[in-house]
Amino acid sequence: MFNRSRQVTCPHCSETNFWKGNPGPTDELYCRGCDGFVTLYDDYIRDAIHQEAERVLARFTEASTAEDLAHLKEVLTEPERRLSA
Ligand SMILES: [Zn+2]
Repeated sequence: MFNRSRQVTCPHCSETNFWKGNPGPTDELYCRGCDGFVTLYDDYIRDAIHQEAERVLARFTEASTAEDLAHLKEVLTEPERRLSA
């Protein structure tokens, strides 16, 4: 199911950070390692949903590469292209 570890890797120093409590969409996460800005909670949720969607898609298809997956998503979001594919 949905990944609720709420773990975020710092883009600056690769330290592992975690959301605590009950953050709002505009809450910012700062790295405990380098104090750099990591992400907004809203962006984090968007990324998490995107990654989860890719994971689920990959599990239910034969797609094994990023290109296959990208093509699959293209087909799913543009149904009319299925006719000519
Ligand atoms: Zn950091």
